[in-house]
Amino acid sequence: MVEKSKIAIIGSGLGGLSAAIYLAVKGYDVHVYEQSNKPGGKANELKFFNFRFDTGPSLLTMPFVLKGIFKYAGKNIENYIQIKKLDVLCKYFYPDSTILNAYSDVDKLAKEINSKTIDSKESVKEYLDYSKKIYELTADLFLFNSFSGLSNFANIKALKTLLQFNKIDPFRTMHESNASFFKDAKTIQLFDRYATYNGSSPFKAPATLNVIQHVEYNLGAYIAEDGIYSITKGLHKLAEDLGVKFIFMNRVDKIVTKKNKVVGIVYGNDFVNYNAVLSNSDVLNTYHNLLDVNPYRESNKYNKVEPSSSALVFYWGVKTQSPELEVHNILFSEDYKKEFDDIFEKKICPEDPTVYIYISSKFKKDDAPEGNENWFVMINTPYDDGQNWDDEVKKSKGIILKKINKILGIDLKDKIVCEKILTPQGIEKKTSSTYGSIYGISSNSKSAAFMRQQNKSKSIDGLYFCGGSAHPGGGIPLVLLSGKIASELINKHHAVQ
Ligand SMILES: Cc1cc2nc3c(=O)[nH]c(=O)nc-3n(C[C@H](O)[C@H](O)[C@H](O)COP(=O)(O)OP(=O)(O)OC[C@H]3O[C@@H](n4cnc5c(N)ncnc54)[C@H](O)[C@@H]3O)c2cc1C
Repeated sequence: MVEKSKIAIIGSGLGGLSAAIYLAVKGYDVHVYEQSNKPGGKANELKFFNFRFDTGPSLLTMPFVLKGIFKYAGKNIENYIQIKKLDVLCKYFYPDSTILNAYSDVDKLAKEINSKTIDSKESVKEYLDYSKKIYELTADLFLFNSFSGLSNFANIKALKTLLQFNKIDPFRTMHESNASFFKDAKTIQLFDRYATYNGSSPFKAPATLNVIQHVEYNLGAYIAEDGIYSITKGLHKLAEDLGVKFIFMNRVDKIVTKKNKVVGIVYGNDFVNYNAVLSNSDVLNTYHNLLDVNPYRESNKYNKVEPSSSALVFYWGVKTQSPELEVHNILFSEDYKKEFDDIFEKKICPEDPTVYIYISSKFKKDDAPEGNENWFVMINTPYDDGQNWDDEVKKSKGIILKKINKILGIDLKDKIVCEKILTPQGIEKKTSSTYGSIYGISSNSKSAAFMRQQNKSKSIDGLYFCGGSAHPGGGIPLVLLSGKIASELINKHHAVQ
């Protein structure tokens, strides 16, 4: 009997799970190695003192990407995950006491912005049309397919994009573009915020990234009714149903090569032979610590690219009810430019941070005991550059509590019944993401999209990448796509035997 092609996947983050499913459906013998005791990586969950928290992502966009995985496997997603569209994507609180609901319905959103700012309904619609146009011109090229730099532009579809290059707005920053559409600083700040969805600064990232607003408002934002971790659990179950073998509590120590060709992996004292290895581990970690050779020309550029931002997350079980809050809430900073200078230039936690509060117990009652709520409180921070995180945590916690009290009138000091904290160092320790950066590299330059690790190594045969630090980038839908693209490349180069 001929053996099936054997593929090792290093890591069971969402990218690794997606790839495992696509490969299993194609008939590969797939083994997923995970250093933790459960799947998910950043998309994980924490349970303590009768509270449950999603640890990382809290909002799902482009749900058709997730649904597409189940469809490909011939399964009904509803037997695995229940997803639901949100009416209010996020409730924004501004320092001048303005409160603005970002509705998922575009007409309602335009009306709300019109009534809370000096901007018109028409300007919001015009802006979302502009964002949609960027999506139409870039999605095929930059999101849904493998990317090999300039050679990608050598086809008809890409030519269409090239001919309308100014429409993808690559030469202005996100902020410059937003300031050209809107007059009110509050509207500009709201749309500038989307730079943080891939760990960048709106004052540096190219306006092409204003595509994210189309994804969130025109295509819609969702939650999973059982918490975001049910997405991880659903994908893990599907993979197991398809015969994928998971090896938990097993860190891969080395990817073994022979004459620039992957031959297998080493974990503990064992060597296991594989036809190809897909790393869902961070790209820099793969180059620095996992590969037994250094493909210098390919790896060197990643050492020079600026890492994305990271985050400080407080998981607070709180003895309070907050009818004034939605599931997702933002308390904005006074000076957004300074906040990003603190993060990317000074590399300190912002002195006046934008505070994000996600409360899943508002829709999933058993995430907190009765009369309590589970507050996931996050600020954007620099990546780990040797800062003293104990000091940064202490300083930031004080600032956040003060801000919540000032803006929401909620004094949390005596209401926090239990707490866990995630720092950039913690992110690196738990998921091997170098510098604790959430999205691999930042998009703080025009060339960033071209600098991301491609899904197939150029110099080592049989080595593939997926996950937030590889093409097409971080965030749930993109890492799911990265797994799909990597599986297609593996299938092209290592046909099932
Ligand atoms: C605080 C926070 C908030 C976020 N918010 C959102 C959001 O609202 N919406 C959104 O879409 N995205 C959000 N994200 C981003 C999203 O979570 C990530 O982009 C995505 O989950 C990353 O998936 P990944 O495939 O890159 O794998 P990762 O999550 O990075 O997982 C990699 C896995 O590989 C394992 N691993 C690494 N090295 C080895 C090894 N040598 N051997 C064995 N196992 C190994 C790790 O243990 C880990 O399980 C957020 C992330 C964080 C941290």
